[in-house]
Amino acid sequence: MKHTILTAVLALAALTATAQTQIVAHRGYHAKEGSARNTISSLRNAQELGVYGSECDVNMTADDSLLVIHGMWHTDKKDPTRVHVQKDTYKDIRSKSCEGGNIVPTFREYLAQLKKDPKVRLVIEVKSHATPEREIQVTREIVKQVAEAGLEKQVDYIAFSSVVCDELVKIVPKGTEIAYLNGDWEPAKVKEHGYTGIDYSQKVLKEHPEWIKQAHKLGLKVNVWTVNDPEAMRWFIDRKVDFLTTDDPATALEILKGKK
Ligand code: MG
Repeated sequence: MKHTILTAVLALAALTATAQTQIVAHRGYHAKEGSARNTISSLRNAQELGVYGSECDVNMTADDSLLVIHGMWHTDKKDPTRVHVQKDTYKDIRSKSCEGGNIVPTFREYLAQLKKDPKVRLVIEVKSHATPEREIQVTREIVKQVAEAGLEKQVDYIAFSSVVCDELVKIVPKGTEIAYLNGDWEPAKVKEHGYTGIDYSQKVLKEHPEWIKQAHKLGLKVNVWTVNDPEAMRWFIDRKVDFLTTDDPATALEILKGKK
């Protein structure tokens, strides 16, 4: 009997422990000096900080290379030599560095850095592309490279495109997280499509706070982006979102630890 009670208490403790919001560094922890969004240094910073996950954006160049870069343009609008991350080539895009002299990493380089720390996950945003066919090609190539790197258990996927998410449902190993970003579907529809979570903007979730509970009842995870204001962080942590995506992961961690 004692053993049964102890087991039940431990199981409850485990459930409570997993219920705490986890922090995802949006495009890596880029707020540190010398870093830039979606670069190896921002991923390394996130690993050093010890967050649950580090998010990144993946685009395919005109000549079919996967790069970790947001786009659609690189670099600044005022730069007359700026390049388009999907319509220009690997060589053209790679030749232009990011802030702080950081280079645009290939997806393979990013995975190699990820592999150095098994404790931090990579939340891969498969960016929307010009046609459904192209989106399926990009999705398959990303999943292939993750498998080749032996990192299938260390990645989660997010996308605005339902074409991308539907393809992920078909090809990733069972149990892999797939969250829909677009904010226009109620949780029941996301569940019907076989995705595992919603990853909606804070604006959408503040308009539909009931979607957090609805999602949880359906067994879906809830992620919110991109929450940088400490008050808003507390609001979402109090509502027990599973993941909070932020450009300020250091502050989010301090709030979780009760230090702020
Ligand atoms: Mg993103």
